[in-house]
Amino acid sequence: MADLTTSIILMTFFGIYLFFCNGLSLIAKNTGRSRKMWFFLALFFTPVTAFIFLNVTGPSDRELQLAEKTNRIEERHPDHPDPRSLIPHESNCPHCQAPINFQSGYGIEPIESSSYKIRCTECKVEIQPAA
Ligand SMILES: [Zn+2]
Repeated sequence: MADLTTSIILMTFFGIYLFFCNGLSLIAKNTGRSRKMWFFLALFFTPVTAFIFLNVTGPSDRELQLAEKTNRIEERHPDHPDPRSLIPHESNCPHCQAPINFQSGYGIEPIESSSYKIRCTECKVEIQPAA
């Protein structure tokens, strides 16, 4: 009986601990950081320590965001000579929010009946390129 009570208490505390780790990972994500990485940092170093880390490692948010964008674009365009040049052209389908890129043609395809009309490869709805 005592063992069962102990394990219930331990599991409850572990659940609360995970809850705080998750909360911290959300804060990290909202400030442009990797949610997964900060979740594990919180798990290993406790959420309080990770929260202090989060506030000490201040000014690199934008660099991290830029790095994330670059990584994402490099994954989509492994052969592109200069993936960073595609970042300003990153966009989302206005209908389904799928990522699209007018510069590289990622996520868009021509509509067969027309030479200049394009549509989203996900939802197949025509997209008007922003003027
Ligand atoms: Zn779409």
